[in-house]
Amino acid sequence: MKVIDHINNAKETIFSFEILPPLKGQNIGEIYQTIDSLMEYKPPFVNVTYHREEVVYKQMPGGLLEQKVIKKRPGTVGICAAIQNKYKIDAVPHILCGGFNREDTENALIDLNFLGIENVLALRGDCIKGETYFKAEKDGHAFAADLVKQIYEMNEGVYLDEELQNRTPSNFCVGVAGYPEKHFEAPSLNNDIAHMKAKIDAGAEYITTQLFFDNEKYFKYVEKCRAAGITVPIIPGIKPIATKKHLSILPHFFHVDLPDDLVTAVEACKDNKEVRQVGIEWAINQCKELKKAGVPVLHFYSMGKVDNIQSIAREVF
Ligand code: FAD
Repeated sequence: MKVIDHINNAKETIFSFEILPPLKGQNIGEIYQTIDSLMEYKPPFVNVTYHREEVVYKQMPGGLLEQKVIKKRPGTVGICAAIQNKYKIDAVPHILCGGFNREDTENALIDLNFLGIENVLALRGDCIKGETYFKAEKDGHAFAADLVKQIYEMNEGVYLDEELQNRTPSNFCVGVAGYPEKHFEAPSLNNDIAHMKAKIDAGAEYITTQLFFDNEKYFKYVEKCRAAGITVPIIPGIKPIATKKHLSILPHFFHVDLPDDLVTAVEACKDNKEVRQVGIEWAINQCKELKKAGVPVLHFYSMGKVDNIQSIAREVF
């Protein structure tokens, strides 16, 4: 079933979460453990991230550095198929512009269609780790809006090869990413929202936001989107802070601010066990307020152990 239908049919806020494919060489068992421990909160859908290749350096004898381009977390499509088969819930694979030309995208969508996957989150992706700015593939898409457009063309039965027109249409529901604190490359939040409008005009049916810690930023973002004519559901992304290191990692990788009260509380903790508790309490308050405001879904970023998400869900759902 499509995410937008889950949202439209829901009588109250939905619980959902995102998982990362395991590192190469590890077992799918850890994904199952994560999902098993969160199933009691009845997620109707689960997102699975997609990871591009990275440039890694290996020290060679004689001090030389060998440069390699590798994918550390392959397997998104297979994991999505396995989840749908085992749990009978919908999997939402993330699909990127980066690393794909338009034909690769079409072929990936055909695979997903064959596997009975009806949802995708369409993203541009970032540059490969080791590069400084995003480069589209030759004949690939530079922005997520163009990827959304290609997916909806397939939904109309339009394929890249002109001889194949009016073939079986696909039937994807497409979500896109939004940034309450602005995408880091955008010159202003208003400009970023204008580009968001292009993703919605291309057919995207809902937005999932970047993680944030200050609900006011989410509420203002929703207000600005509505003022810009964006009417689709906007799903807040929640990440409980769990270690002291997150104080620098989260702003660095996700370009978000942490409220002073949260920073002070984390800094006062004597160990990460205490930080984890602070993170849980902060997220519970955030989620209760968001739920009260009637958000369609509370979407959790898991990134590892999920005991903290269980504790939050227990209080909120
Ligand atoms: P876009 O919507 O294309 O926007 C990128 C930038 O370009 C923005 O600054 C936008 O304002 C600007 N822009 C858009 N259109 C135009 C235009 N026509 N002209 C000029 N500027 C324009 N990354 C992964 O690699 N794998 C994942 O699985 C993944 N999952 C994510 C899930 C969520 C919910 C979120 C919020 C992010 C995720 N990301 C993931 C990160 C994402 O790929 C990056 O944030 C990326 O830098 C931007 O992707 P986007 O789809 O928002 O890009």
